Amino acid sequence: MVVGLETHIELSTQSKIFCGCAVNFGGDPNTNCCPVCVGLPGALPRLNRQVVRYGVMAGLATNCTVNPVSYLDRKNYVYPDLPKAYQISQYDTPLCENGYLELSGGKKVRIARIHIEEDAGKLVYDGDKLYVDYNRSGVPLIEIVTQPDFRSADQVKEYLEKLQMLMRYIGISDCKMQEGSLRCDVNISVRKSGETAMGIRTEIKNMNSFRFITRALAYETQRQIACLSNGQAVVRETRRYNEQTGETQSMRGKEEAQDYRFFREPDLPAVLVSPEEVEQLRDAMPELPDARVQRYCKDYGLAVEDACLLAKYRKLSDYFEQAAQGLKAPKTIANFILGPIFRSLTTEEQKEAGAPSISSQDLHELAAWVEEGKLQIGLAKTTLEQMLKTGKSLSVLLPAEQLGMMDEKELAALCRRAVEENPKAATDVKNGKEKAMGTLVGAVMRFSRGKADAQQVNHMLHDLLC
Ligand code: ZN
Ligand code: MN
Repeated sequence: MVVGLETHIELSTQSKIFCGCAVNFGGDPNTNCCPVCVGLPGALPRLNRQVVRYGVMAGLATNCTVNPVSYLDRKNYVYPDLPKAYQISQYDTPLCENGYLELSGGKKVRIARIHIEEDAGKLVYDGDKLYVDYNRSGVPLIEIVTQPDFRSADQVKEYLEKLQMLMRYIGISDCKMQEGSLRCDVNISVRKSGETAMGIRTEIKNMNSFRFITRALAYETQRQIACLSNGQAVVRETRRYNEQTGETQSMRGKEEAQDYRFFREPDLPAVLVSPEEVEQLRDAMPELPDARVQRYCKDYGLAVEDACLLAKYRKLSDYFEQAAQGLKAPKTIANFILGPIFRSLTTEEQKEAGAPSISSQDLHELAAWVEEGKLQIGLAKTTLEQMLKTGKSLSVLLPAEQLGMMDEKELAALCRRAVEENPKAATDVKNGKEKAMGTLVGAVMRFSRGKADAQQVNHMLHDLLC
C-alpha cells in the first residue's frame, strides 16, 4: 500500500479564525455565531493572529520552513454546512512547507505543507430531517499534508500518535480524535512490490479513530488489489468508511483542484511572518519529546522505552525532571513514576493533565532518603503507595525525625511501650506462649514505621519479659 495523509487539527484558540465568537466544544446549537461565521452578506472577516502563531509553531515542531508571505484563498463548493459557499483556506502558498516527522525506526515521513483554514459547521441528521449547527463554523484549523510516504497501517498509526503528542506538547490543540479535534483524510493506492509508479488512489474522508483507520486501510487495500487482479481499474474517487460493516463505500467522484475555482480571498491581506517572530515563537516552545528522550538516556541513564514513556506527556515529563533534580540516581524517580504513579493515573486525560496527588518535592525527598541510606527502598515504595491511596503528604505519613537507623535506646523505649499497651500479650509471653510475641513485635514495627529490625526487637522483648 502507498498512503498519504491530510490531517485537520482544531486549534485551541479562545476565538474563531475570522471573528470574535468563542470556540468551545459542545454548547447549545448556534449559540456561538455571528454574521461573519454564518456567512451573512456584507460581513467581513479579520484574521485571528493567534492562529498564525499556532500554525508557525506546528511548522517548527515538524521541521518545516515558514513562508514569510503566504495567502488566504477561497475554496468554492456548495454544501449546507458551509454558509458562504466557500471555505477560506490557503492554496498555492501555505504558511509552512517541506518538513518531516521521524518515526521510531528512523523513517522520515515528509510533510508537504501546513496551511490554516476555517472549519465548516456540523450537520445533524434526525430521521428525514437535517439540522445545521454553525458553532463549529469558523473554528480555526491547520491542515497537515504528508507526501505518500506510508507503506503500512502501523506507520500511519505511529505518525498520528506522534503528531498528536507533538501538538499537545506545544499546546496548540488537545487533538481529541473522539471529539473531532483531530481528523484524517487518507489517500491510498496499491502497487506491486518493486514498482515505482504510483497507482490510482482513492481518498477516505474524515476518519477519527486509530482503530477505524487501521481497519479502513486493510479493507481498502484488499478491495483495490481485488479490482486490479480482476483486470478492472481503480476509480479515482472519495469514499467513506462504514463503521458498522467495516467497508469503504463510494461517496462521489474525486474533485480536482479546478472544481473548487480557487482564487485569492479579496477581503483579507497576505499573511506576513517576520523572521523575528519565527525566532520568538521558537524560543517560547518547550523542549520536544525526541530531544527529551535523548537527554534522559544520555544524562539519566534511562532505557529508551522508559525515557519514551516519561517524555510522552509533557506535564508528567516536567514533573519527573523537577523531582529528579539533584539526585545521583534519577532512575529511582523514573521507577516511582512509571510504576505506582502511572497506575494511579488511569485515564489518558489524567496522564495528560499530569498532576499526581504527590508533590514533586515529596517524591524527590523519598528518593533522596533512599540515596542517603536513611530509608529502605521497600519502605519508600510502600509509603509512596500509601500517599497515593490516602492523599496524605510525606511529612504526615513519614515525619523526617523518624528517619535514619534507630539506636538501641529508642528501640528499647518502643519495646517498653509495646508491653505497656499490650499487657495480655506480655503476660502470655512471660508464661511461655511464644505466639503472643507476634503482637508485641508488630506493635514495635508499627511505632517505628517499619524501620526497626524485627529480629532485634524480638531479642529485646525477650530480654525484657523473660
Ligand atoms: Zn462569529
Ligand atoms: Mn482542509
